[in-house]
Amino acid sequence: MDRIILPEKVNRIIRRLTDAGFEACAVGGCVRDSLLGRKPQDWDITTSAAPEEVKSVFPHTVDTGIKHGTVTVLEGIGEDREAFEVTTYRIDGEYDDARHPREVTFTPDLKEDLRRRDFTINAMAYSEETGLIDLFGGKEDLERKLIRAVGVPEERFGEDALRIMRAVRFAAQLGYEVEDNTAAAAAALAPNLAKISCERIMVELTKLLVSPHPDELRRMSELGITAVFLPEFDRCMETPQNNPHHCYNVGEHILHSLTAVRPDPVLRFAMLFHDIGKPQCHTTDEEGIDHFHGHAEVSAKLADQILRRLKSDNATRREVVALVAAHGADLGETEAELRKSIAQIGPDRFPLLLEVKAADAAAQSDHRREEKEATLARWRAMYEEILARGDCLSLKDLAVKGDDLVAAGVPAGRKIGEILGRMLQDVLETPEHNRKELLLARHVPKKP
Ligand code: ATP
Ligand code: MG
Repeated sequence: MDRIILPEKVNRIIRRLTDAGFEACAVGGCVRDSLLGRKPQDWDITTSAAPEEVKSVFPHTVDTGIKHGTVTVLEGIGEDREAFEVTTYRIDGEYDDARHPREVTFTPDLKEDLRRRDFTINAMAYSEETGLIDLFGGKEDLERKLIRAVGVPEERFGEDALRIMRAVRFAAQLGYEVEDNTAAAAAALAPNLAKISCERIMVELTKLLVSPHPDELRRMSELGITAVFLPEFDRCMETPQNNPHHCYNVGEHILHSLTAVRPDPVLRFAMLFHDIGKPQCHTTDEEGIDHFHGHAEVSAKLADQILRRLKSDNATRREVVALVAAHGADLGETEAELRKSIAQIGPDRFPLLLEVKAADAAAQSDHRREEKEATLARWRAMYEEILARGDCLSLKDLAVKGDDLVAAGVPAGRKIGEILGRMLQDVLETPEHNRKELLLARHVPKKP
């Protein structure tokens, strides 16, 4: 059955347009996801109406990308209002580095509009009136679980190299294969990705990493895609780890660690980069055992460089770099030591670090696995207890504030920070010391 239940608002928009004498259908990702029984992220509508005609049919519209034929239609009243992109049938000119093709031509023919789309599974349209419109075998490719370019793959990747990354990204999201000719063209044209802006590459890389199959990064490496924007990863794929703790080379270990961690962007990027500096730190001892001394620090530095190069947002970059830097740290034996580790790494970041460590261990050999898992379990349990007790873990929770020190006669300036720092160390060691009078008595020198 090819019946899709369109949301009522989508039906209303389509009906309005067809009542006015135009063609209109839902199109692209929402049709694909509906056929798969997945909930679409958004519903896009394609129409024979020109942008000005779309605007004349609806009372509430926004000119989002009117040059490219896209009008946002606001449907519903008040709280219930939702935005839908309605785009005129179009043929794309050559794509440039931006999100949109350099020039577009409108066309009265739906077939032309579907032909410009990247993959068969993304090139289907649907309305209640027309049913499924599938001119390129998209449904069959959904059934065969194949990512296949619409038309001649070399041409399609030549028009817009980003599609090469999108092919692997969709394979990762859906658990599909890339059809052979499409894959061959992707490999042949991958160097063209150098022309694509970092922002667009970052969007695709992030979607791949948070997908159910982040290890599809392997395919990106095999097709020569990472060679363009992440050659550091290709080096990892060539770096062996002849060491009892490991059973994979560095790159494969990274791939396994990616699948072992929750699909959160910070965590997935942290796993991608946690060992990225290993090739630079590689030494082999007399017994032929590989070592990677200092690799956490080198990896953190590289992660910072790479994320800047790829124009990551600063918040993500900082979190990832901090986690990479700390990924191998010994968090301590005693509760006091653990509290100090938490304070140093940051109480908000700490639970993420435990997840990073667990994924790292899961992607290693079975050598001393039980011991590693027991240590992690102990840290987790101690951390829970520390949280449950509400132990002070940062200056924010310290019973003494800067103002209290000024009131106690400490001159404003560097001294204040130093004393607060000592008080925090004291309280991390002995949580019961987190009382104002006691801390002032212990750490503020008595006036003569
Ligand atoms: P998702 O939103 O889940 O990432 P999607 O298929 O909706 O997937 P979008 O990037 O939102 O992807 O694009 C919507 C539709 O526009 C696609 O389904 C496809 O038909 C078309 N499209 C998007 N980007 C390209 C491109 N670079 N080349 C050709 N067609 C594209
Ligand atoms: Mg979409």
